[in-house]
Amino acid sequence: MSEEKERPPRPRPGITRDTAHFWKGLEEGKLLIQKCSACGALRHPPEPMCHHCQSLEWTTIESKGRGTVYSHVTMHHPPIPAFEYPNLIALIELDEGVRLVSNVIGVAKEKVHIGMVVQAEFVATDPELTLHQFRPVEEV
Ligand SMILES: [Zn+2]
Repeated sequence: MSEEKERPPRPRPGITRDTAHFWKGLEEGKLLIQKCSACGALRHPPEPMCHHCQSLEWTTIESKGRGTVYSHVTMHHPPIPAFEYPNLIALIELDEGVRLVSNVIGVAKEKVHIGMVVQAEFVATDPELTLHQFRPVEEV
């Protein structure tokens, strides 16, 4: 029993026809945000229809990955072997204006705060999954 148990892979994201471009972008190191082709509104998570003008036509922009912590929580329970703890989960508001849920990495949990400036990184959590995670820009 001295051998350290290998961490199981993270649960797979629910990839659909409407969200596949987002996950494919992460594989390529790009944070792709959906943009309505008709009115230009950005939206995330990806959806088939624009909330502003009901257009079904869309394209994507590549986010610069810079944003701020809008809200955050530290998940303690239940412990899931696939995740590292403390599991710092944040709602990130990108400079482009949309918000997305992610992990914050490279910072102690008591240092995470609302308004903290963060930058996206692309982390291969296992050979088949690359995820966006956010690291503080300033030393905290
Ligand atoms: Zn629109």
